[in-house]
Amino acid sequence: MSDPCIFCAIVAGDAPAQVVYSDDAAIAFLDINPATTGHTLVIPRRHVEGLLDADGALAEVGPAVEATGALLVERLGADGINVFSSTGHAAGQVVFHLHVHLLPRWSGDGLLSLHDLRVPVREDRDAVHRRLA
Ligand code: AMP
Ligand code: ZN
Repeated sequence: MSDPCIFCAIVAGDAPAQVVYSDDAAIAFLDINPATTGHTLVIPRRHVEGLLDADGALAEVGPAVEATGALLVERLGADGINVFSSTGHAAGQVVFHLHVHLLPRWSGDGLLSLHDLRVPVREDRDAVHRRLA
């Protein structure tokens, strides 16, 4: 890691965060620029940049993602949750310490869903399947 990592600083207690859950492998804290009420980030305590170098870190944060999701529903009364994570500039990643976004959702809140997101498809599904299978 060349640059100081803000999320490692949060894990170390050297940067402030509104922590809502933590365990041995992960911590969860409120996003400073929330997309919805209660927008929370779950991160592994150890530094990995993203999914491609995660080396098991995504699985390690799984229990924290589940527990934090339950917390958001129980305490905030959310009707649902979106879970997503970005790896790489092309995907919109800004902070290069793996993190899982939890977005509490309420019926009729108007935020887009995956079904509203489409970019032009560059290869049909059969061609994609041949390359992957
Ligand atoms: P992305 O890398 O695109 O998944 O987004 C990084 C997210 O981290 C954004 O939603 C930011 O608002 C959030 N963020 C950046 N710095 C902090 C911080 N110090 N505390 C809490 N959230 C942060
Ligand atoms: Zn880090």
